[in-house]
Amino acid sequence: MDGSAQCQGTARARAPDRGDEAGATRGPNDGSGGTRDRSRNPPHTGEVVIKPRFVVQLHDATTLHFDFRLQSGDVLRSWAVPKGPSLDPAVRRLAVPVDDHSLAAGEFEGVHEGQRRGTGAVIIWDEGTADIARDEPGHVSFILHGRKLAGGFALTRTGPKRWILVKARDEDARPGSDIVAEQPASVRSGKTWTQLRDGEQISSTGSKHSPE
Ligand code: MN
Repeated sequence: MDGSAQCQGTARARAPDRGDEAGATRGPNDGSGGTRDRSRNPPHTGEVVIKPRFVVQLHDATTLHFDFRLQSGDVLRSWAVPKGPSLDPAVRRLAVPVDDHSLAAGEFEGVHEGQRRGTGAVIIWDEGTADIARDEPGHVSFILHGRKLAGGFALTRTGPKRWILVKARDEDARPGSDIVAEQPASVRSGKTWTQLRDGEQISSTGSKHSPE
């Protein structure tokens, strides 16, 4: 699949300011693939709701592209979105379905080993939780609670291997905006993809995540 077991990177590095987005009560990431949200539960039940996770990674394989991943059980359904998501409801972004990825792959930020120089770098451009509104063949709609992406979105199949990702017209929509250009950096490290790619030389306040 993604070969993440052979990757070095900052998959386990956590930004210190995580945990306050979207008003959710977020627990530690324990590898279970979900985010605990106790705020939705009456305290007396003792139950814990695990919301599906979403992540958007910026990745250069043969071309630089975004990967939109939405948790479904113990995998991340994945679409390659060449131009990335938009908060402008008038913008329709091509989303090419790709193989499901492991939950661990969605935690990865770093540089995949074993790829030619200048490729394989991945940043976590956004992440958070999702409420799935509809999930049927060829269509899934959901509410995102991320750092950059918020509110309703829909992924709709328009042809073989061709879906579109569109922002819903809701209070989180920002007509005319270009979130990818406005906020290019990783939500984990604060680095842009270019900085991460070149980043073995970039000092980052003492946090060098390479295992060497
Ligand atoms: Mn990719």
